[in-house]
Amino acid sequence: MKGSNYLEQLAETKVVVFDKTGTVTHGVFEVVETAPVENISPDELIEVAALAESLSNHPIAKSLVDKYGKAVDTSRISGFEDITGHGIKAVVDGNEIYAGNTRLMDKIGIKYTDQKTVGTVVHVVSNGKYLGHIVIADRVKEDAHEMIAELNSRGIETVMLTGDAKTVGEDVARQLGVQKVYTELLPGDKVDKLEQILKDQKAKGGKVAFVGDGINDAPVLTRADIGIAMGALGSDAAIEASDRSEERRVGKECRSRW
Ligand code: ADP
Ligand code: MG
Repeated sequence: MKGSNYLEQLAETKVVVFDKTGTVTHGVFEVVETAPVENISPDELIEVAALAESLSNHPIAKSLVDKYGKAVDTSRISGFEDITGHGIKAVVDGNEIYAGNTRLMDKIGIKYTDQKTVGTVVHVVSNGKYLGHIVIADRVKEDAHEMIAELNSRGIETVMLTGDAKTVGEDVARQLGVQKVYTELLPGDKVDKLEQILKDQKAKGGKVAFVGDGINDAPVLTRADIGIAMGALGSDAAIEASDRSEERRVGKECRSRW
């Protein structure tokens, strides 16, 4: 933590907004189901997904590479693009691969069967052909429930923002006792939601804290009255974002005092 002004603001905090993945959950995903279409084996589906995701630093991508279990032959990958809040696009063995959520499938016009699961679903497509889906599960942090209960008992409102599916986000919010949850948000939507909360609180004189891991939420960390960066995943982006907001707010005068 830098700057005593943030400690003072913490005392006036009326709303604490949390990111989900990597913040209230471990962000360590594990593959729990592999469901290829006919003529494709589960191993083949995992291999394509793992190679395509190998250049992504998202926790989802890491779990797929772990499941693959072999060293990734990077010479097979000739293109990669992160599609924020949707998934990824990559070229593997010369094939154009997409891996991501239903929003990505809708965007590229691929049919899929909607999965009613509380796990995060990654759909995989090769050269416009649907290859199947993989279900990945994350675990809620053991001490998160207690922390949320403590905040709620002090009359501080708790809110969770997530880019994940409605079923997953609402399940996690229920497990934790978070009072409000907004799901299926793109990074820009997260900023808009926070702006709304900030505006409501400004009228009441309350401060808003945001707790995030820096993956897909750095702009929100920057925008909150108090940005709290988690120490593990994506911490560089998170710390940089919280620092930058500090510099912008505090200005030169205070900076020279440090
Ligand atoms: P959160 O808001 O929970 O931290 P993100 O904004 O990082 O989640 O991601 C939102 C959603 O986008 C994920 O739940 C997932 O469906 C999809 N997604 C993001 N990155 C990837 C990826 N590398 N591979 C597959 N799906 C992804
Ligand atoms: Mg996150």
